Amino acid sequence: MILSKEKILEIFEKSGALLKGHFLLTSGRHSSKYFQCAKVLQHPEYAEKICGLISDHFKSYKIDTVIAPAIGGIVVGQEVARQLNKRSIFAERENKSLTLRRGFTLEKGEKVLVCEDVVTTGGSVFEVIDIVRNYGAEVEGVGFIVDRSNGKVNFGSSRQDGVVTNYPQFSTIKLEVVSFLPDDCPLCKEGVELVKPGSRKIK
Ligand SMILES: [Zn+2]
Repeated sequence: MILSKEKILEIFEKSGALLKGHFLLTSGRHSSKYFQCAKVLQHPEYAEKICGLISDHFKSYKIDTVIAPAIGGIVVGQEVARQLNKRSIFAERENKSLTLRRGFTLEKGEKVLVCEDVVTTGGSVFEVIDIVRNYGAEVEGVGFIVDRSNGKVNFGSSRQDGVVTNYPQFSTIKLEVVSFLPDDCPLCKEGVELVKPGSRKIK
């Protein structure tokens, strides 16, 4: 299945996932746009189509298990795993670091696909990659819906511990983020109300 960038954007817009306003990003910067992936994934037919691009991309890979970071990645991982007919597990935060709970485990040599909804810095995905490696399992690839890193994220880059990896990565779409430092933000100057996405208004 192939979906053009226009078709993907159409689905995002239909589900109200592309928000316009004045948003506080986790980086502390301000932006006029925000993407709320859960609004797309709340519709099973959209989740099937969009996640289908990821499962299509990795269907020729040898994969035993799909793993995702909670919470955003869970639906993506589950849907990709369903389409590939593989096991699906997730990592969740405990004392600030991602870990496997609920009896989830990975075997040595098990081949794993890491899935996520939106990647900006890729922090959660890098943490999940470390979990997989710590179990002695093998990361076969990283699939995610939206690349918001402005082309910067590279899961195949060399790691802090000096190990050079080469994980194939795939995103269904790249959405550029235009953001401002609070002091240079034109929306602040206009007096538009600042909103933290997913929360109540903060100002
Ligand atoms: Zn602002």
